[in-house]
Amino acid sequence: MTAYEYETHEYDVVVVGAGGAGLRATLGMAEQGLRTACVTKVFPTRSHTVAAQGGIAASLSNMGPDNWQWHMYDTVKGSDWLGDTDAMEYLAREAPKAVYELEHYGVPFSRTEEGKIYQRPFGGHTTEFGEGPPVQRTCAAADRTGHAILHTLYGQSLKNNAEFFIEYFALDLIITDGRCTGIVAWKLDDGTIHVFNAKMVVLATGGYGRAFFSATSAHTCTGDGNGMVARAGLALQDMEFVQFHPTGIYGSGCLITEGARGEGGYLTNSEGERFMERYAPTYKDLASRDVVSRCMTIEIREGRGVGPNKDHIHLHLNHLPKETLDLRLPGISESARIFAGVDLQKEPIPVIPTVHYNMGGIPTNYFGEVLNPTKDNPDAIFPGLMAVGEAGCASVHGANRLGSNSLIDLVVFGRAAAIRAGEIVNPKERNEPVNKAEVDKALDRFDAVRHADGSLPTAELRMEMQTTMQADAAVFRTDKTLAEGVVKMTAIAAKMDDLKVTDRSMVWNSDLMETLELGNLMPNALATIVAAEARKESRGAHAHEDYPDRDDVNWRVHSLAHVDGNKVTLTTRPVHMDPLTKQEEGGIDLKKIAPKARVY
Ligand SMILES: Cc1cc2nc3c(=O)[nH]c(=O)nc-3n(C[C@H](O)[C@H](O)[C@H](O)COP(=O)(O)OP(=O)(O)OC[C@H]3O[C@@H](n4cnc5c(N)ncnc54)[C@H](O)[C@@H]3O)c2cc1C
Repeated sequence: MTAYEYETHEYDVVVVGAGGAGLRATLGMAEQGLRTACVTKVFPTRSHTVAAQGGIAASLSNMGPDNWQWHMYDTVKGSDWLGDTDAMEYLAREAPKAVYELEHYGVPFSRTEEGKIYQRPFGGHTTEFGEGPPVQRTCAAADRTGHAILHTLYGQSLKNNAEFFIEYFALDLIITDGRCTGIVAWKLDDGTIHVFNAKMVVLATGGYGRAFFSATSAHTCTGDGNGMVARAGLALQDMEFVQFHPTGIYGSGCLITEGARGEGGYLTNSEGERFMERYAPTYKDLASRDVVSRCMTIEIREGRGVGPNKDHIHLHLNHLPKETLDLRLPGISESARIFAGVDLQKEPIPVIPTVHYNMGGIPTNYFGEVLNPTKDNPDAIFPGLMAVGEAGCASVHGANRLGSNSLIDLVVFGRAAAIRAGEIVNPKERNEPVNKAEVDKALDRFDAVRHADGSLPTAELRMEMQTTMQADAAVFRTDKTLAEGVVKMTAIAAKMDDLKVTDRSMVWNSDLMETLELGNLMPNALATIVAAEARKESRGAHAHEDYPDRDDVNWRVHSLAHVDGNKVTLTTRPVHMDPLTKQEEGGIDLKKIAPKARVY
């Protein structure tokens, strides 16, 4: 019996997370009349989605010819042939519909002269199946697209009577006879404990960028949902694939959107050379992110970095007309001033590849239903549980995500999860009684963390983890750095038992919250380094110097990681090769998306 009292809430659906994915799912559930609770540790419009600048990809053809097949091709190629074909088709096909829905909900998109949604070029987005010029596919609300989407979806969710539980920290899933039946949460401002008993739980808790020392993501991006899933004995997928964004501001990690290069910005080395022309003759500065990040790293390694330590690169926007900067990129002018002390109309911005996005996460099908793969059935569903957004892995980004393909992932799959829940959740059915033993288990863990009385402060262990991940799970990886990383991270994860929490209070206790977050970051970090060590090839964001080539024969598979304490067990799951629609029924010509060398 736990020493904690708790209040129980009954819902059809509980969504954990109020970023773009969580809000789109919440709105879709509520619109269908499902009793829906959205539980979030930060105020909804403070979720990391608010920081998304550049835009959201959809083949609207507002600026020139485009279609979903070209978008699908670019996504397949961007993923370095690791994405699931059915999910990537679903994303590209549904994208225009999802963007028009956002428009009708009230997202204030930037406009063209004729009043259509403005679209800009972004890295890796092309025409004619990669044979034609770059396409303008990324729909933008200036450089504040995520902000605009989040505010609109929050307003719409309230209008549809979704109920919000704000500044509630979800601790663990409740699992009853092999299905998820709710969550346990801690209310941060008054210290009370809450059980959400539901027919469906949707995890939309975002990425785990903060497992690394330098990241563009918010301090709240601690992979909590992934941590809960790992503790429930379920797998995480493709965790070795971590995206480095080419243009984090040197020093602070603050992002300069790829839209800056989309609007005409370019990179130079210490010799003033536009070096991307050498590496990617066709798409140059608008090659895919993993490619640009590697080229920058090579330039720095070969002694052509800028600055006193020759350890970063310059991003030029100073040649662009003031009107373009003011109209299309107002936010980054401010970021450059505050975080780099640079007036971007006069000087280049110092930038460096910075951890930005997690391609891996909780494996799902393209309706967001969480998979619990078995030997006989790699697509077996774990009932009662869905995952959407950066926490999930559908998998549409495979080994590397294209810029502006995440925001569209959030809304397409948030919406898909709601459509699916509408089919399988019956609001007339009564919920199962609360599984008290599982609630006790979650609260026992919470209590143990709260009273942790070892010798290590949380901040110290977190720093050890972050610097190790930054050094050993980097842009370029070798057998040696990865093997060392695994040994170090295994030892670091073991130190979780030696943490010391100094504040025992239940109210506004950031020491306790950060320790719980570290407990979630740790399995993410561990799975990332162990899966990276095991993958003996180079694919997308996983650039292995001892195995520089992609190996489709042995490695065109998803990795699955089960994390138990500081032990990781790896298995694999086949990549879905079949599309949703056959070519003769209007689907893509599979020959167009057959694997080939990935050059830009
Ligand atoms: C600076 C930056 C710029 C970007 N720009 C773009 C762009 O232009 N285009 C693009 O496509 N992508 C962009 N991305 C990527 C994209 O924005 C993210 O992948 C996406 O916003 C993630 O959304 P999400 O809904 O999955 O999670 P988030 O927006 O991170 O939200 C997570 C939610 O989960 C909640 N939560 C987490 N843990 C708990 C817990 N334990 N209990 C309760 N609640 C919890 C949080 O409160 C929050 O509401 C950018 C990312 C960054 C960092």
